[in-house]
Amino acid sequence: MKKPRIWAEINLEDLRHNLQAIKRHLAGRAKVMAVVKADAYGHGSVPVSIALWEFGVDMFGVGDSSEALELRGVGINTPIVILGGIVDEEIERVVKADITPTLHSVQVGQLVNAEARRQGKVLNVHVMIDTGMGRLGTSPRHALELIEALSKLENLRLEGICSHFSSSPFDRDFTRNQFAEFQQVVAAAETAGYRIPIRHMANSAGCLLYEETALDMVRIGGALLGMDPAGVYAEQFGLRPILSFRSQIVFLKWIPKGSPVGYDRTFIAPRDTRVATTPVGYHDGYSYLLSNRGSVIIRGRRVPVIGGVTMDYTMLDVTDLPEVAVGDEIVLIGSQGNETISAVDVAQVIGTNPYEVTCLLGKRVRRIHIRNALHSSAPPAQDAESVPQAAPIQYRSADA
Ligand SMILES: *Cc1c(COP(=O)(O)O)cnc(C)c1O
Repeated sequence: MKKPRIWAEINLEDLRHNLQAIKRHLAGRAKVMAVVKADAYGHGSVPVSIALWEFGVDMFGVGDSSEALELRGVGINTPIVILGGIVDEEIERVVKADITPTLHSVQVGQLVNAEARRQGKVLNVHVMIDTGMGRLGTSPRHALELIEALSKLENLRLEGICSHFSSSPFDRDFTRNQFAEFQQVVAAAETAGYRIPIRHMANSAGCLLYEETALDMVRIGGALLGMDPAGVYAEQFGLRPILSFRSQIVFLKWIPKGSPVGYDRTFIAPRDTRVATTPVGYHDGYSYLLSNRGSVIIRGRRVPVIGGVTMDYTMLDVTDLPEVAVGDEIVLIGSQGNETISAVDVAQVIGTNPYEVTCLLGKRVRRIHIRNALHSSAPPAQDAESVPQAAPIQYRSADA
C-alpha cells in the first residue's frame, strides 16, 4: 500500500484503552458522556463515536445540531447532548432527532417546548448553571427560577443539570469553589422539590483529579483522545495519545550557503544546505507560527523547519541526514524511533493548547482510523517504501 500525501492516523485500540482507564477509575460510580464536539477535536467524529458507542459510553456531547445529526445519521441511537446553546433555526431538527439541548434561558426553553408540542413529543433537556466560566448557563441566583419555569413546560423533561469548570486543574481553590457553588444550586433545587436525575460537571481533569466532582456523569473529551493539556493526568492513568500526523518528502535539493528559503527570505542558509520539501502547509493545520521554530521526525531523528510555513508546503533542513530520500515518511505529531513530538509540544511552540492543534488539522489531511495495526510506538519502518498497514474498520450499522 502506498503512503498518502498527508494523513492523520487515529488508533482506536488506544481509544479503547483510554476509555477503559477512565472507567476503571470511575468504578461504576458515574456515567460517561464522550465529548466529540468539533469533529472529535479533529480526530473524526463519526469513526471515533462509532468505536466509542461499541466500547460502551452512556451519552455523546457535541457542539451543535449538525454534529448531533451526523451521529444520528450513522445510526447512533445513544442520547446526544448539545453542550452549547442552540439557535432558533436548529430547534425543529433537534426535536425531530431526539437530541438533548442544554438550556440557559426560559425563552429558548419555551421555543423548544412549543416545537416539541407541535411534534407531539416530550424532549429531554439539561439546564446549565454558570459557576465561573462566564460563557453559557444561568447565574446561580437565577437558577431556581429557571428550573421552576422549565419544569412547568409540559413537553420538556428536565433530565440533567450541569456546570462547567473554567480553570486550570492547578487552580484547586477556584475549582473547588465552582463545585461548591454548583452543589448549592442542586441542593436548593432539591429542597424546592426538583429532583433532576443527572447532575454533571466534571471534564477530563475534573474527573481524573477531583474524584468527588464526578457526580452522576462525567463529560470526557481530551482524556479519551489521550490529550492532557496541563500534563497532570495522562501519565498517572497511562493514557495514550491516539492521533499521529504524518506526511512524506516530495522533493529534495542542495542549496548553496547564503541562499534564501521561503516567502520573505526569513531563512538564509548558513552553510550549504539540503532542503526537504513536504506537502504540509498551514491549510493542513501546520501553523505559520511554526516557521523557523517547529521540528519534525524523519528516520527517527528530529530535523528543523526552515523558512516560513506556506499554505501548502513546509521546508526542512536535512543536511545532517544524508540517507534521507524522496518518499520518506515524516512525523509532525507522533513517534518514530526514539523520538516523539506530542500535540502538547507543538502547542507550546506556538503558544496555544493541544486541543487547538488537532482541531485545526485541515480537510486535506486524510483521517485513517485503525485497529490492531501499527502502534504509534512501533519501531520505524526499515525501508522508506514500507507503510503502516492501516486496517480500516468495517462497521456494522447501529440499527442492524
Ligand atoms: C469540551 C467540553 C468538555 C470536555 O472537556 P475536556 O477537557 O476535553 O474533557 C466538557 N464539558 C463541556 C461543556 C465542554 O464544552
